[in-house]
Amino acid sequence: DRIPLMAGNWKMNLNHVEATGVVQKLAWTLSDKRYDKAKAEAAVIVPFTDLRTVQTLVEGDKLPIAYGAQDVSVHASGAYTGEVSADMLAKLKCAYVVVGHSERREYHGESDEIVNDKAKVVLAAGMTPIICVGEKLEIRKEGRQVPFVLDQVQKVLADLTPEQVAKLVIAYEPVWAIGTGEVATPEDAQEVCGAIRRYIAEELQGADAAAGCRIQYGGSVKSSNIVDIMAQADVDGALVGGASLDPEEFAKIVLFY
Ligand code: 13P
Repeated sequence: DRIPLMAGNWKMNLNHVEATGVVQKLAWTLSDKRYDKAKAEAAVIVPFTDLRTVQTLVEGDKLPIAYGAQDVSVHASGAYTGEVSADMLAKLKCAYVVVGHSERREYHGESDEIVNDKAKVVLAAGMTPIICVGEKLEIRKEGRQVPFVLDQVQKVLADLTPEQVAKLVIAYEPVWAIGTGEVATPEDAQEVCGAIRRYIAEELQGADAAAGCRIQYGGSVKSSNIVDIMAQADVDGALVGGASLDPEEFAKIVLFY
């Protein structure tokens, strides 16, 4: 009942001209391989400057690809130079907005409280937040990944209703596995994704919220490891960085089934 979400986070790669080629090639490869939207949803999470181009392409050619942004302002409008509001993203028909990526937390000082505020503005604008959580290597070495991530989850989901949580996406991205080629084992991914779902069911927004929300794994996902990761009961998709820049490789990940 939870349709897996395969989201390609391009990070700060591919300008709007390059984006056109990559999205067209992705759509062509998916349709050539008889892509089934009921088995996996494909999304690209692109730089702000690519969004209008991707929108035009997806709408014009009716491509079966969702798209979204990598960040959003907590403010609605006003004197916030350089920021982009949730309403601006909604106007571009973004389906998704990633919030709290570890690179935003690390380089821009985003706290769980800011991430929670960003999730709220995305929901208020009618889009779906992809909320990122995950532990650094030192926490993993101490074996504290589950309590650490559950603490993040409790903070980033604060004040959200069960109905809101049922529709959102949580991405578990262990920081030590991002861009390192060091993929978590399928069992590592399941341990934390399963713990997140149980925690939401038992301590936060309840069983329906937990059953509805999609929990992705992210960190060095490739076509060669996606099948084993997706075999885990509580993993509902992947947030893919580097491998999503190659449309043929990303199509293989979307078509994991
Ligand atoms: P990589 O797939 O390049 O490890 O990046 C993961 C990530 O951060 C996706 O948001």
